[in-house]
Amino acid sequence: MTIPDLTTLGRGVPGTTLGAGVPGTTLGAGVPGLPGAAPADMPRADAAPAVTTPAPAALPQPQPPGFSPEAARQDVPILHRTVNGHPLVWLDNGATTQKPRQVIEALGAFYGAANSNIHRGAHTMAREATQMYEAGRAAVAGFLGAGSPDDIVFVRGTTEAINLVAQSWGRANLGPGDDILVATLEHHSDIVPWQLIAKETRARVVPIPLTPEGAIDQDAYADLLSSRTQLVAVSHASNVLGTVPPVKEMTALAHRYGAKVLVDGAQAVAHFPVDVQDLDADFYAFSGHKLFAPTGIGALYAKPEILQGMRPWQGGGNMIDSVDFTRTTFAPVPHLLEAGTGHIAGVVGLLAALNWFTSFDRDAVAAYETALMTYAQQALATVPGLEVLGAAPERIAVLTFTLAGHDPAGVADWLDRDGIAVRAGHHCAQPALAHYGLESAARASLALYNTSEEVDLLVASLRRLQGA
Ligand code: PMP
Repeated sequence: MTIPDLTTLGRGVPGTTLGAGVPGTTLGAGVPGLPGAAPADMPRADAAPAVTTPAPAALPQPQPPGFSPEAARQDVPILHRTVNGHPLVWLDNGATTQKPRQVIEALGAFYGAANSNIHRGAHTMAREATQMYEAGRAAVAGFLGAGSPDDIVFVRGTTEAINLVAQSWGRANLGPGDDILVATLEHHSDIVPWQLIAKETRARVVPIPLTPEGAIDQDAYADLLSSRTQLVAVSHASNVLGTVPPVKEMTALAHRYGAKVLVDGAQAVAHFPVDVQDLDADFYAFSGHKLFAPTGIGALYAKPEILQGMRPWQGGGNMIDSVDFTRTTFAPVPHLLEAGTGHIAGVVGLLAALNWFTSFDRDAVAAYETALMTYAQQALATVPGLEVLGAAPERIAVLTFTLAGHDPAGVADWLDRDGIAVRAGHHCAQPALAHYGLESAARASLALYNTSEEVDLLVASLRRLQGA
C-alpha cells in the first residue's frame, strides 16, 4: 500500500482550496489587509508618510552563502499580509512561527481527501492515515537523531511532554529528599510540572542560578549536583534570554551522579540542528507550532530503556491491548503514552513542516540567523535607552529588551501600529526576568524568514518612539 502523497492530495478535490467557494469562509474576510477585508481603520503609529530606515547601512548585511531568507519567505503566505496598513513584520516567532503553504496545503489535503482515525485496520483509509501518522513519527525521530521511531511519543506540545515525564517517570522515580535541578531561565512549563510532582512526592525543586550575562552558572550547577539529584531540567535555548546552555556537558555531568536530564527544546529546534543521541539527553521535548507546524502537536523523545519502564499517565483507547473488568493489558510504548485519538492532522502538518524546514541547509540557516542577530544587536544599539537582556556566549536570535521611558506593553502597542509584531510581558519565564529585577519586557524573536530590512523597520519605529 502506498501512503497518499500529501503534496498532491487534495488537488482537484472540491473544497480543499482553503475556504474558496464556501460562504463565510473566504480567508481574510474582516481581516484588514487580506483579500475580502474591510479597509483598515486602525490609527497609524505616526503621521509620517513611510517608515524610514535609520543608518545601519554601514552594518554588514547578514547573507552568508547557502541560505537566503527569500527562499523561505516566498513559501509563507501570511508574511505577505498587511497589519494596520503596513506590511507585516513578524518578530514573535518565539511565541509561534508562521506556516509555509506546504503545511497549510497538507492540512487541507488531509481533511479533504484522507481523513480517518488510525490504528484500526478496518478499511483502506484507516490504514492510510495510520501510515501517515507513523511516517510522521519516523520523520520526528530522524529530525531529532533518535535511534528509532519508537522513541517518539506524540503530545500536544512541550508543556504536555514535560507534564507527561513528571507524571509518569517522576511519580515512579521521585521520593522524599530527592532533588530536581531546574535552571532559573526555564519557561514556566519546565518549572511548574516539577513543582507539582515534587509536592506530591516530597522531592525538592532546586533552581540553578544564572550568571549576570544570563548563562547558567556552571560552577553553581556542579556544586548543586549530588547523589540526591534525580533529574536536571534545562532548556536547549531560552525563550527570553536567548541563552543556549552547554547541554551536552551539563548532561554528561548529571549522568555522573546517576541523574536523568530533560531538555526543553521548544526554542531550539527551529534554530539549529539537534541530535538527542549526541547530547545523550534522556528526554527531549518540543512543540510543532514553534517549528512551522500546526498548534496542538509536539513530540517527546525518551531513551528507549527509560521509555520501556514508563507507566501510563492517562488511560483510554489506543494505549491498551485488551480491556476486561478483571484485567486490562496494555499496548507497548510509545502507544502506551498516547491515550485517545491523537492529533492526526497535526502529525500530517508536522511531517510537512519537517519536510519543508529540512529542505534548507540547516547549518546555513543557523549561520544566517546568527548573522541576523548580530545585525539586530548592532542596530538596536542605535536606539536611545534600549537595553537588551542577556549576553550569554551562545545564543539564538531572541532579543528581549527594555526601553527607557516606556512600559513593554506600550512598546509592543506602538510597534503593532507599524505592523510589527513583538511580544511584551513576562514571557512565561518570571524567574529569568526577576534575575534582572524585571517583571516585564518586550521581545523580538527572529526566524529564518526574517530579513535585515525587517530589523531596520523595527529599529526605525523604536527610534521614532524615542524621538531620535
Ligand atoms: N518551553 C519554552 C522554552 C518555550 O518557549 C515554550 C513556549 N513559549 C514552552 C516551553 C511551552 O510550549 P507550548 O506552549 O507549545 O507547550
